[in-house]
Amino acid sequence: RGVVGVLALQGDFREHKEALRRLGVEAKEVRKPEHLEGLKALIVPGGESTTIGKLAREYGLEEAVRQRVAEGSLAVFGTCAGAIWLAREILGYPEQPRLGVLDVAVERNAFGRQVESFEEDLFIRGFSEPFHGVFIRAPVFRRLGEGVEVLAELSSFPVLVRQGKVLASSFHPELTPDTRLHRYFLELAGL
Ligand code: GLN
Repeated sequence: RGVVGVLALQGDFREHKEALRRLGVEAKEVRKPEHLEGLKALIVPGGESTTIGKLAREYGLEEAVRQRVAEGSLAVFGTCAGAIWLAREILGYPEQPRLGVLDVAVERNAFGRQVESFEEDLFIRGFSEPFHGVFIRAPVFRRLGEGVEVLAELSSFPVLVRQGKVLASSFHPELTPDTRLHRYFLELAGL
């Protein structure tokens, strides 16, 4: 199996690397555009989406990733803050740097700031057993574009969506021992 990049600017990229290690896949930390060379898959971790967006722009990664996704040569999986970075629109934060490759409007901290974090079993399309979702100040996806497929919902909010080779989750699969979603992403990337 090929190498998977993990955007390592801010956030819980180490947990994603650990999930990949459990799958027996080599992970590569991506901090500069040249680190993308030869990669077919990139994971964008959870953390703080404003910081991730600012750093990605500063280091030239925003443009480099956008170009590769547009060409169809790179699959991307964003979790929580990473998912926010992928979105076309961030509700209430029009100036926040973002990649814009996922045709959704995302709402940050959508479950309310009081409900900081919670865990809920999710039914993911194509998975036979429920997936334990860890939500931490989680976003939800709204105003989905035509090409966007909903793979899981929580109380009728989309929390896992896919558009072509772009996958985004409101929750943190890297914080559970379950590697099914990472495996799904590898397949999506053709690895
Ligand atoms: N609320 C955070 C943000 O908007 C995301 C939280 C997370 O990644 N766990 O960036």
